[in-house]
Amino acid sequence: MTTKVGFIGLGIMGTPMAANLQAGGCQLFLYDIKAPAASLTAGGATVCASGTEVAKAADIIIVMVPDTPHVENALFSETGVAAGLSKGKIVVDMSSISPMATKEFAKKINALGCDYLDAPVSGGEVGAKAASLTIMVGGPQAAFDTVKPLFDLMGKNITLVGGNGDGQTTKVANQIIVALNIQAVAEALLFASKAGADPAKVRQALMGGFASSRILEVHGERMVKRTFNPGFRIELHQKDLNLALQGAKALGISLPNTATAQELMNSCAAHGMSGLDHSALCRAIEMMSNHDIAKA
Ligand code: NAD
Repeated sequence: MTTKVGFIGLGIMGTPMAANLQAGGCQLFLYDIKAPAASLTAGGATVCASGTEVAKAADIIIVMVPDTPHVENALFSETGVAAGLSKGKIVVDMSSISPMATKEFAKKINALGCDYLDAPVSGGEVGAKAASLTIMVGGPQAAFDTVKPLFDLMGKNITLVGGNGDGQTTKVANQIIVALNIQAVAEALLFASKAGADPAKVRQALMGGFASSRILEVHGERMVKRTFNPGFRIELHQKDLNLALQGAKALGISLPNTATAQELMNSCAAHGMSGLDHSALCRAIEMMSNHDIAKA
């Protein structure tokens, strides 16, 4: 494949995703506000001076930045992607951002004669490196079909959910499930530990049964081993739960347990833990009970 692909936002996730596209034969045009990884340029990628330059050089432009304002800036600032687009190009936002803002961004890109896909991912840095990300897509079928070979280089479980915004809505749903699971695992392991059982053995015993989950496996292990280096930072999960709670307000529904999970994240942030992995949510629950699941 010799597709010309733009990649904007080369952080924890973007760098390995771009590396997989490069390994798959794509010609890459990169832009980040920081210098992109030397391994990508050594592999032949071109570093551009702006998003506009990326959009002029590439046919498909992928964005992987932290939050809604960063996507807006990457696409619509004076030197952003939109200023360099011409008819027929496709913009693919793989960041996790607001579903409502996504619909507005898509309309503005469509007005330039280009398609827009929202395609957030799940699977973390591990999944990004292993090209095993789950990719949840919103947008037109034809654009999805065109970009699918690129998605295949970065992920495994790839679903076109519906129109623009539906990919981001799916990702918010994903983040609700993950946050509530982390909370459940933390409370269960705290209970077991305070009762005098070995939390590592409890986790091991539960892994085969109905309560098993990827969260019990991966985050449960982090809680027991006290390895809270990120991974997925608490501040990014706070952003996703904000999207869930703002969405709930706009839709007129109640998400009581999501609100609790967000308050626990807020408590972690108040204790200086915004940059830790989201498995450190257990620290908030531990502080409430004055008992740690395990000793560091
Ligand atoms: P990160 O902070 O490591 O990387 C973001 C990159 O975007 C940085 O290199 C930053 O310099 C760059 N950037 C910011 N604003 C920019 C702009 N206007 N123009 C160009 N570059 C800009 O974040 P990450 O962990 O790679 O996460 C990226 C997105 O993926 C987020 O939306 C996050 O929620 C989502 N996500 C992350 C994970 C994870 O485990 N880290 C998992 C799934 C989804």
